[in-house]
Amino acid sequence: MSPPRYRCAACGNLTRFDVVTDRRAKAFHHYSVGGALTVEDVEVISESVVEVSCRWCGHGRAIEVLDDDEAAAAVQAGGPPA
Ligand SMILES: [Zn+2]
Repeated sequence: MSPPRYRCAACGNLTRFDVVTDRRAKAFHHYSVGGALTVEDVEVISESVVEVSCRWCGHGRAIEVLDDDEAAAAVQAGGPPA
């Protein structure tokens, strides 16, 4: 499953977004005797995108979610400089 692609219809941005995500995950917390923590085997149980906003516009009012075909077409058409 590939992550979604976004486009800002206001400015044409295809590459820079602030994404707020709610994520529930399970992980193995492995402590050394001295108390240093290493987090291993992170398993994402559920994940949902709460908010997407354009880095350039500073809001998400014009964000579109692209399917794979639309994303390929948008990239070929050329967005603003990455
Ligand atoms: Zn924008």
